[in-house]
Amino acid sequence: MQNIYNYDYQELENKLIELGEKKYRTRQIWEWLYQKKVSSFKEMTNLGKDLISKLEENFTFPNIKILKKQESKLTNKYLFELFDGNFIEAVLMRHDYGLSICVSSQVGCNMGCAFCESGRLKKVRNLEAGEIISQIILVSNDINERISSVVIMGIGEPFDNYDNIIKFVKIINNSYGLAIGARHITISTCGIIPKIKEFMILPLQVNLAISLHATNNELRKQIMPISNAYPLDDLVNVLKEYIAKTNRRVTIEYVMLNNVNDSNKNALELAHLLKGMNVYVNLIPYNETSHLEFKRSDNINNFYDTLKKCGINVTVRREFGGNIDAACGQLRAKEVK
Ligand code: SAH
Repeated sequence: MQNIYNYDYQELENKLIELGEKKYRTRQIWEWLYQKKVSSFKEMTNLGKDLISKLEENFTFPNIKILKKQESKLTNKYLFELFDGNFIEAVLMRHDYGLSICVSSQVGCNMGCAFCESGRLKKVRNLEAGEIISQIILVSNDINERISSVVIMGIGEPFDNYDNIIKFVKIINNSYGLAIGARHITISTCGIIPKIKEFMILPLQVNLAISLHATNNELRKQIMPISNAYPLDDLVNVLKEYIAKTNRRVTIEYVMLNNVNDSNKNALELAHLLKGMNVYVNLIPYNETSHLEFKRSDNINNFYDTLKKCGINVTVRREFGGNIDAACGQLRAKEVK
């Protein structure tokens, strides 16, 4: 038996037909799942007893619960326990334009970025599409408000869980699903080139963000082992291809690590690397964690100015979660030693 949130619209329709049901039931069921956000089949009162029993025999509701919640003015951080006892996190952020949520894509992560707390736990498993959806539904029910944008920037590397992520995106984007506009969905990757190539030919207008964090391959290899497999120059080339093909702007994330990647020389090198590309650079003040030695850069303003002078679109990420351990993997790390 499968979690009902693991079915995309077409798959559920096929399954219902296989079970001898009419097509229109799919839409009714999705309304209960994604608009009314119920937590059992019994609550789907317009379906009739027989269909409800059939659903109970063939599908499950996800067994995920909010274990802990940390609140601050603009941010809520959630720790979830999954059916198998694993833990993941999500962060809700209040912006002027609405609510956005940062969801996890895997239990643990194998990318091994030196500065990142999430990677201290190696990947245990991928999250299913339904488990990623549940993060949104549980949080939305908790605050009783609609969440209008989603970033896949929590624990895990989404492009190391590609099929589930694409399915997840299609379900939340579907107008009978959570109806979250494609332009309000962002996938963040450390740069798994073959998957970026697959992603760029999909008919989805979803945003792509790249965790670049370095300006040359030597430096990038030191902090991001993925650069051994997919060197920086190749990554930049594939981004150029992506931009040409999709006509979409790419977000470049750059975490500011003191005396590691934050010199003015680095800024010039970054400007040179990105020259002429339709990108926008988001400088991320590093969230220090007690387990790792990296420090927050004290050169963010100069770095920003240098990029600006070179004509690069750049912003400094507004900070949301510093006081509630909202950096990647931090809440989980505190909870589960
Ligand atoms: N694996 C994906 C998505 C998850 S990480 C990726 O690499 O993009 C989300 C972002 O947070 C990445 O840019 C990551 O490098 C950054 N990050 C990780 N730890 C951080 C920390 N302590 N402070 C600030 N940003 C951090």
